[in-house]
Amino acid sequence: MKGRNLLMIPGPIEFTPEVMASMAQPTTSHVAPNFIECFGESLEMMRDVFLAPSAQPFILAGSGTLGMDAAMANVLQPGDGVLTVNSGYFSDRMGDIARRYGGRVTNLSADPGDIPDASEVARALEAGDFAIVTITHVDTSTGVLADVEGIAGVARDAGCLVILDSVCGTAGAECRTEDWGVDIHLTASQKAIGVPPGLALLTVSPAAMEVFESRETPVPSYYADFAEWLPIMRAYEERRPGYFGTPAVNLVAALNTSLKQILDEGMDARFARHERLAGAFRSGIRALGLDIVPASDELAAPTLTAIRYPDGVGPDLVPEIGAGGILTAGGLHPEIKQTYFRVGHMGAVNAADILATLGAIERALAAKGYEFECGSGLAAAQRALCD
Ligand code: PMP
Repeated sequence: MKGRNLLMIPGPIEFTPEVMASMAQPTTSHVAPNFIECFGESLEMMRDVFLAPSAQPFILAGSGTLGMDAAMANVLQPGDGVLTVNSGYFSDRMGDIARRYGGRVTNLSADPGDIPDASEVARALEAGDFAIVTITHVDTSTGVLADVEGIAGVARDAGCLVILDSVCGTAGAECRTEDWGVDIHLTASQKAIGVPPGLALLTVSPAAMEVFESRETPVPSYYADFAEWLPIMRAYEERRPGYFGTPAVNLVAALNTSLKQILDEGMDARFARHERLAGAFRSGIRALGLDIVPASDELAAPTLTAIRYPDGVGPDLVPEIGAGGILTAGGLHPEIKQTYFRVGHMGAVNAADILATLGAIERALAAKGYEFECGSGLAAAQRALCD
């Protein structure tokens, strides 16, 4: 018995051996020349991975929620109108954060599994007075992918800043940050970026930096204030030491390795690999007679899939899949939580992982008495992978 599970939840994910080895290097001083190089180079590589060549990158110690908090705290001023394009649990969180900082939040929502499209966003923007539009690239609670290009386009036309929560998308789901007009692109380390949990990463456009610089009220968060972090990021990029809060030295070493691996693969190839593996996984799921939560294939994320339990099967399917050595996650969207489960397929994921996961899902469904042709999901996925 190998006694090893395959982690297929929507983050944290399995990391490459090289990333884990970097993490295990002796911790150095945050002002040591080798760490300054590692931090500075990581900031530079972020622009290439986020496809945001003119943006200001930030690497902060904290989880993805810190990235959301930092984005709002720095560019929202009390009384600003905020439109949250809502696709689920994490879009709600963005609205909560905006409210906490005094934003007037309008929630543009859709049924679970759906998301307002660009034309609905355009209509909502015409009907109100908004400074900021928030988009969740991939809502981890439903596996719904946003049309970032379309929504950001209408938001920019309406003169709004666009904040993109791509915690479950960056470096997996296509995002051409600068070309698409995303102002703040935030993510966390533990998903497709491929680094253990603990880093919040942001790129901030020149327009968003200008909004930050011309704000009339102080940033209402001490730790997240760009005024404190900007000189530090600039110092490291210029290969000088800086200090505001101690950087997560080992995580930054791991980030440096992972960003290099991502850029070695190439962004287009990486987006295509995620699409291909997700498509094969969905083919397998559908061949088993199961449905996905997203309302259509166009709305299905390349980084995770949310799958409805078939009739007669419920949340105890997840531990049954776990008994087969594959860790998946239960539902998260409060309205439909008990009716579906989630499988993450991002970062270093490969075809073997997809097939192993479908195999474990088939065995668990059989154990729960669901009737289907054993092997049909695997065969469909394999056909897609051989195409
Ligand atoms: N946004 C999205 C889309 C997420 O998936 C998550 C985490 N699952 C978060 C924000 C929050 O990130 P964290 O848990 O790292 O704070």
